[in-house]
Amino acid sequence: KAKRYSRDEHQIDRRLVSRHAVKVCEVLQQAGFEAFLVGGAVRDLMVGLEPKDFDVATNATPDQVRPLFRRARIIGKRFQLVHVVFGQEIIETSTFRAPAAADELTDDHGRILRDNVFGTQKQDAARRDFTINALYYDPVTETVVDFHDGVRDLKARAIRMIGEPASRYREDPVRMLRAVRFAVKLRGEIEPATAAPIGELAELIENVPSSRVFDEMYKLLTCGHAMDCLKQLRSHGLHSGLLPLLDMVLEEPDGLSFIELALERTDKRVRGGKSVSPSFLFASLLWPQVRTRWQRLYQAGEHSVPALIAAADDVMNAQGEKLAINRRFSSDMREIWFMQPRFERRQARTAFRMSEQPRFRAAVDFLQLRAACSEFDSVLAQWWMDFADAPDAEKARMADAL
Ligand code: ATP
Ligand code: MG
Repeated sequence: KAKRYSRDEHQIDRRLVSRHAVKVCEVLQQAGFEAFLVGGAVRDLMVGLEPKDFDVATNATPDQVRPLFRRARIIGKRFQLVHVVFGQEIIETSTFRAPAAADELTDDHGRILRDNVFGTQKQDAARRDFTINALYYDPVTETVVDFHDGVRDLKARAIRMIGEPASRYREDPVRMLRAVRFAVKLRGEIEPATAAPIGELAELIENVPSSRVFDEMYKLLTCGHAMDCLKQLRSHGLHSGLLPLLDMVLEEPDGLSFIELALERTDKRVRGGKSVSPSFLFASLLWPQVRTRWQRLYQAGEHSVPALIAAADDVMNAQGEKLAINRRFSSDMREIWFMQPRFERRQARTAFRMSEQPRFRAAVDFLQLRAACSEFDSVLAQWWMDFADAPDAEKARMADAL
């Protein structure tokens, strides 16, 4: 039986709720359906954080939802949901669904391969991962509905799995990474029974498609507390096999200062509400490895640029076996890296040409990181920064002055 909390009890600040999300719930309810905000948004609202995005859960099917809105499209093949579009904002609206039957739809390790059955709200709550992620908020009556004591756990900042933790991790090993992320983000702890099986099951992450692991790693690194997340992953035995760089980050003294600085800056940007590009982030994390190899090849007599290219290929190949970095990002990462030797010489003509490259700005930002770690002259790095910031006429003047 679900517990219900009124506004006085849950104290959600209505001003933090997207009016578009409220609108979607109102329209669905006026059409006779049930509709709630759900998941991360409710969790964040209840602890006073501003949600990144808003999801709606309803008992209406996608075909019933879509005609109710002017701009709405059905997406997804396996499990369909509706994107209701308001200008820049998309409200993801999904139909309550039931957990997969444990016997049929899983792989040899128990991983869920399909879950596409509509269900009741209660079933929908039960198939979610943690109690704090299974809260429903009706913005019309301002009631929070709680089937699994998520409110209690949220107050205690306890990350507790719904159901039997080990089998829920087998269904979807990514939940282990999510447990760590939410514990760090909420400044709480993974509840003991939820934490216990992680060490033993950690290796199941290798069976997860690497694009999903990549997405989750990106979320971990951009949750505003990146270094804490990496340390927690390690303490739960989740570091190896994820990103070879995680071992490196925490073990190799040479690389540590660079990566720490990169992650500090990432945290600062995230907390300031700015975006962080995955290519910049992963270019930074892998840089100490690239740099070491680059120097080795250079000292062995290779020219600077080919040495850098070979070093980058080496590192990306080693990395790719564990965690495929999307081709879209990896080519940007290479561009950021390969511009670095070109910053050493300043010439009017090349400076201009470089500034026209799409990743120039990111490469100059990257150069600032290197300068902050004393691996590049800081006066020269500042010149490039000023050059990147300058309007075209001023760029010409700066180049002429060289
Ligand atoms: P954030 O958006 O801050 O990363 P979130 O909780 O909103 O956190 P999403 O990945 O957006 O995370 O998922 C939305 C909701 O879907 C979650 O709150 C949870 O209820 C459910 N969910 C997401 N991933 C899983 C999973 N792997 N297993 C079970 N339920 C999940
Ligand atoms: Mg979310």
